[in-house]
Amino acid sequence: MSVKTLHDLFVHDLSDIYSAEKQLSKALPKMARAATDPMLAQAFTDHLAETHGQIERIDQIVETMQIKLKRIKCAAMEGLVEEGKEVIEEVEEGLVRDAALIGAAQKVEHYEIASYGTLAALAKHLDQPEAVKLLLETLQEEKSTDDKLSKMAEQGGGNAAAAAGKGDADTAKASADSKKSMEAATGKKSGDAASTKKSGDSVPSKKTA
Ligand code: FE
Ligand code: FE
Ligand code: FE
Repeated sequence: MSVKTLHDLFVHDLSDIYSAEKQLSKALPKMARAATDPMLAQAFTDHLAETHGQIERIDQIVETMQIKLKRIKCAAMEGLVEEGKEVIEEVEEGLVRDAALIGAAQKVEHYEIASYGTLAALAKHLDQPEAVKLLLETLQEEKSTDDKLSKMAEQGGGNAAAAAGKGDADTAKASADSKKSMEAATGKKSGDAASTKKSGDSVPSKKTA
């Protein structure tokens, strides 16, 4: 495929993000199933619905501009989805996997944000206001999703532990215990931090156990 003009580049990039969205629409249901926190699963499901709408917007742009998309596969999304699969296979279920899933999803959103930003700028250059409007709508959805994921990562622990009940009890307890131990260790030993590492058995919670 030869890309010579900004118009060619726009068609190329639009074809690329079309492929990316299609790949993502297959991956999101798997990510939703792999999530422990029901709120995270819901966020993935909600974004799947948005993704379908985004694909429709691309179809609208194709119609408005009377262009034809190229058959290309977005290699970046292929890699990002592959990393998402690794997360599901390798990271233990529960809080840690949820954190990893959020990280994987945010990498996807950042790729999309960069792509739609470029496309909107190209459409503006090409004097295609309708395409600009549609691309900016999608860009806003990707940014909102990214923000939502950031907030979930920040509040994560509590929500997931409460929602997961049995599955996460151990993880949540371990995390709470280690936090307590750390507070105890740092609180009591704030003067000589160096000795904390040497004497691992000086953690108070161990004595009371
Ligand atoms: Fe998208
Ligand atoms: Fe791509
Ligand atoms: Fe997205």
